Amino acid sequence: MQDKNIPYKIYLKENEMPDKWYNVRADMKNKPAPLLNPGTHEPMTFDELRPVFCDELIRQELNDTDPYIDIPEEIRGFYKMYRPSPLVRAYCLEEKLQTPAKIYYKFEGNNTSGSHKLNSAIAQAYYAKQQGLKGITTETGAGQWGTALSMACSYFDLDCKVYMVKVSYEQKPFRREVMRTYGASVTPSPSDTTAVGRKILEQHPGTTGSLGCAISEAVEAATSQEGYRYVLGSVLNQVLLHQSIIGLETKAALDKYGIVPDVIIGCAGGGSNLGGLIAPFMGQKLRGEQDYEIIAVEPASCPSFTRGKFAYDFCDTGMVCPLAKMYTLGSGFIPSANHAGGLRYHGMSSTLSQLYHDGYMKAVSVEQTSVFQAAEQFARIEGILPAPESSHAIRVAIDEALKCKETGEEKTIVFGLTGTGYFDMVAYEKFHNGEMSDYIPTDADLQVGFDGIPRFPGNEF
Ligand SMILES: *Cc1c(COP(=O)(O)O)cnc(C)c1O
Repeated sequence: MQDKNIPYKIYLKENEMPDKWYNVRADMKNKPAPLLNPGTHEPMTFDELRPVFCDELIRQELNDTDPYIDIPEEIRGFYKMYRPSPLVRAYCLEEKLQTPAKIYYKFEGNNTSGSHKLNSAIAQAYYAKQQGLKGITTETGAGQWGTALSMACSYFDLDCKVYMVKVSYEQKPFRREVMRTYGASVTPSPSDTTAVGRKILEQHPGTTGSLGCAISEAVEAATSQEGYRYVLGSVLNQVLLHQSIIGLETKAALDKYGIVPDVIIGCAGGGSNLGGLIAPFMGQKLRGEQDYEIIAVEPASCPSFTRGKFAYDFCDTGMVCPLAKMYTLGSGFIPSANHAGGLRYHGMSSTLSQLYHDGYMKAVSVEQTSVFQAAEQFARIEGILPAPESSHAIRVAIDEALKCKETGEEKTIVFGLTGTGYFDMVAYEKFHNGEMSDYIPTDADLQVGFDGIPRFPGNEF
């Protein structure tokens, strides 16, 4: 039943939208470990990163001290086309579940790219334009990041070259066409257009690709062409910074009604939506002002947090990128060609990895069919057809709400609904036809990936 004081949708006014991003690293006592040069094992400097990344984005990447960073006016203007995004009270779901829990979700699917990725894409394209670049290159897995970036690039009139993981390229032809509508060129990865792609094809003929492969190709494409830089849609500190808009809006909306959540849940691929959603809450937790239970949800098929190693590892399969310290399954880990879509990356954001390591958050892994059961249940009750990635968070939110039903606790649960699933109907189809499998890697499968993690003094795991 509706609480008279709290509407179904809490919208902020345009002028209540945050004008600064929040950098959670500023409040961390144990800072995330720096990126290392893979040759010298020394921290990467600004100058070493310049051939790959845009200057201003490197400054943000390396900034562990400023808690707030201004959102440039142009980016705020773009945000206003689809933000502030609604925070929805899932009254209908609560009713169906007969739970005393109060469930809220922050919906980021209200833009054509269909996910939260646009929040960082527009920022990264803006800084590339400011620097006078011709274009940017990137990888995309499920396709949401590539779509978001092509939208952002077309807005700023930048060229956009997307390397798309082959399995998605073939499964999601319409994703590709959306990107081309926005003027991007899309290449299935691994491809023979780069040296690293050719090498990967030689070693693994017939491979359906992975994010790690596509990253290697995109980096090579950026560094071998004048006026290009590489951008990444998740994992990096700068991406978590841009995504903090999700959490800041969520907190502002909750504060309006004096609501304090008990549990905050997000799906975790590379960690950007989760890092963004929890940012201001984690800040309070780090400063000792308030406690929250924070849960990362990952697929059982790609369990970086729950079964990975906390170690320095390559960010890409071709081992051309700097080393990042993170929970990782090894850069050679290629998950089965299942439908966890955007959650298939082998590693996890360094910031979230450090917070998890220090006990500030929990992680759980969930199996695919149970995720789609939750997705379908949610779609039928709340009306939104969720992305499979987002549905990992829905699964655990429903499970938490059902626990409350047993204990009678009236917990307030907030979860991130990161996007819509209209381009994932092949996965839904498999689910409906009973053809979906719950692939869980064995310890031996994982060991193959762990064997590829570099060993050097200081990198024991
Ligand atoms: C990419 C994506 C994710 C996972 O990426 P993170 O960086 O972990 O947030 C989750 N949901 C959707 C809809 C996505 O597109």
